[in-house]
Amino acid sequence: MKRRGLGTLVLLATLSVIGVVLTQMLWLDRAFRLQNDQLTLQRQQQVQLDKQFSDRVTIALTDVTEQILSINKDPSDLFDAVVEERPNYFAVTINDTLHPYLLEALLMKEFQRRGIQEDFEYGIYDCFTDSIVYGNYVGMDSVTTDSTHTDLQKLDKDGHYFGVYFPRRSSALWSPAPASRSTWIYPAIVTLIVFIFFAYSVWTIARQKRLSEMKNDFIGNMTHELKTPISTIALSSEVLGDPAIVHEPERLRTYAGIIRSENERLRAQVERVLQLTTLEDGNARMKRDRVDMHTLIGEVSRSFDLVLKERDGELRSDLQASDAVVSGDRVHLSNALHNLVDNAVKYSPAAPTIELGTKNDGRWLHIQVRDHGIGIGRQDQRHIFERFYRVHTGNVHDVKGFGLGLHYVRQIAEAHGGRITVHSEPGHGSTFILELPLA
Ligand code: ADP
Repeated sequence: MKRRGLGTLVLLATLSVIGVVLTQMLWLDRAFRLQNDQLTLQRQQQVQLDKQFSDRVTIALTDVTEQILSINKDPSDLFDAVVEERPNYFAVTINDTLHPYLLEALLMKEFQRRGIQEDFEYGIYDCFTDSIVYGNYVGMDSVTTDSTHTDLQKLDKDGHYFGVYFPRRSSALWSPAPASRSTWIYPAIVTLIVFIFFAYSVWTIARQKRLSEMKNDFIGNMTHELKTPISTIALSSEVLGDPAIVHEPERLRTYAGIIRSENERLRAQVERVLQLTTLEDGNARMKRDRVDMHTLIGEVSRSFDLVLKERDGELRSDLQASDAVVSGDRVHLSNALHNLVDNAVKYSPAAPTIELGTKNDGRWLHIQVRDHGIGIGRQDQRHIFERFYRVHTGNVHDVKGFGLGLHYVRQIAEAHGGRITVHSEPGHGSTFILELPLA
C-alpha cells in the first residue's frame, strides 16, 4: 500500500471513530435529559401524594382532637393544634388529660374512615413531668399492638400533647435519586471496544506495510545476490564452450572451479531461504539428539579458516563450559552458529577478530560470539531479529545479505527453549549470546 493511501485510510477511520464517539455522546446527553425529566415528574407526583397524605392525617387528627375535647370541655382551642413536624411525624397539642385507649381507638377509627392504611406509632407526653406517659405501635392490617416501640421524639410543648409517627413512610424528598449507571456504562464500554479495535487495526496495517516493504527489499536483494553467480557461471561456461580451451587444461580447471564454487553459493543461498520458509510454515521437525556444542563450535570455526586467512583475521575460542551438551537438532544449531560467525566476519570492515566463548550458568549454556566490527545502534538492536530486517549500513554497501540470518537464529534458539540476545556499541563491535538449556 502506498504511503498516501495508508494515510488517507487512517484519517478516514479516525474521522469515523470520532463521529461514532460524538453520536454516542449526543445520545447519552439525550438519555440523561429524558431520565432527569422523568425523575422530576416522579418527584412532583410523590410530593403531591405526600401532601394528600399529610392533609388527610391532619384532618383525621383534628377530628380526633375535637372529639376528645368535646367529651370534656369546649373545643375552642382547636386552632393550630395539629402540627406536621416532619412528613411522617405529627404532633397534636391537647391541654387535657388523655386516656391512651380512647386515643388509640379514636385514631384507628378516624384513620380507617379516611383510608389511611399506614402502620403508626403514637405517644402521649406529659410536659409537666417531662416524660412519655404511654406509647404504642399499631399495625393497621392486623390489629396487633406492640407496646415496645416507643422511639418517638419529645417536642418542646407545654401541657399534654401526643405524637403520631408513621415508621414505614419515608418521604420521597429525602430518598436519593436512583443511580443510573447502566445508561452510560454500556455505551462507554462499546465505544472503548470500537476504539481498541480501531487502534489494533491501524497497528496491524502499519505492521503489514512495513513487512511488505521489507519483503520488497528482500526480493531486490535476493535477485541481486542470485544475478551475480548466474552471470559468472554464464561467462565461465562461455569460456568453456570455446574449443581451444582443451589445449589449456589449467584455465579449464580454473573456470570449472569458478562454476562449481558459484554453484555452491547459489545452492547455499537457496537453501537458506528454503530453511526459513520451512521454519515459518511450522513444518520443520526439530530432532532431539544429544549435541555437544563444543564439537559443533570446533566444526563451525574450521569452516571459516579459509575466509579468515584471506582477510588476515583470526578466531579465538575460549570454551569454559564444563557441560556443553544440549538436546537438539545438530544441523539447525550448526546453521545458527554459522550465521552468527558469518555476520561477525561480514560486519568487520578491517581484519576480523572474532572471539567464541562458552560458559555454564546453572542449567544453561551460554555461547558468546564477539566481534570488533561496525556494531549496531540501539534503535536497530530491537529489530535485527525480525524477518527481512537489515540495518541501513550507509557507506558499507558491499555487505550482502537478506536480513534472514538472525531471524533464523532466533527461531532456532526458541525452538530449543532458549534465546538470543545482543550487546553492541556502534564502532566498537557486537556480542551475541545464544542461551540454550542443557540436556
Ligand atoms: P543479513 O543477511 O543482512 O546479515 P541478518 O539477519 O544476519 O541479515 O542481520 C540483520 C542485520 O543485523 C544486518 O543487516 C546487520 O546490519 C546487523 N548485524 C548482524 N550481525 C551483526 C554484527 N555482528 N555486527 C554488526 N551488525 C550486525
